[in-house]
Amino acid sequence: MSTNNPCLTCGACCAYFRVSFFWGECISAGGSVPDHLTVQVSPFHVAMLGTQSKPARCTSLMGDVGCGVRCTAYEQRSSTCREFEASWEHGQPNPHCDMARAAHGLPPLDPPLQPQLSPDRVA
Ligand code: SF4
Ligand code: SF4
Repeated sequence: MSTNNPCLTCGACCAYFRVSFFWGECISAGGSVPDHLTVQVSPFHVAMLGTQSKPARCTSLMGDVGCGVRCTAYEQRSSTCREFEASWEHGQPNPHCDMARAAHGLPPLDPPLQPQLSPDRVA
């Protein structure tokens, strides 16, 4: 992960939304997400523990939202986590990113997200 990744000083989405996904992503079903980090929320879905009710905050999120955070389940995180994009990560805004940040008093990210070095400028 890049050190100028804005998510490392944010974490708002992990402390705002219910982060749910198909239970088959859990380790006990052959997936990657540790079962003890989840809670069942429907017959076919689990959510990251701590996000099942408001105020939501994933128990796998360490640190202070808006300052410095780290996902302690990063390598094992669900598809929901993997697919959530920061605004302008791929050149498009993500209203859900903006919404989560606003809920924590953070401004929306501005494009471009971070300076990109072209290959010929990389030493
Ligand atoms: S709200 Fe956006 S910037 Fe903040 S951690 Fe989530 S994706 Fe990253
Ligand atoms: S598992 Fe990690 S990325 Fe997913 S909601 Fe929790 S802290 Fe955020």
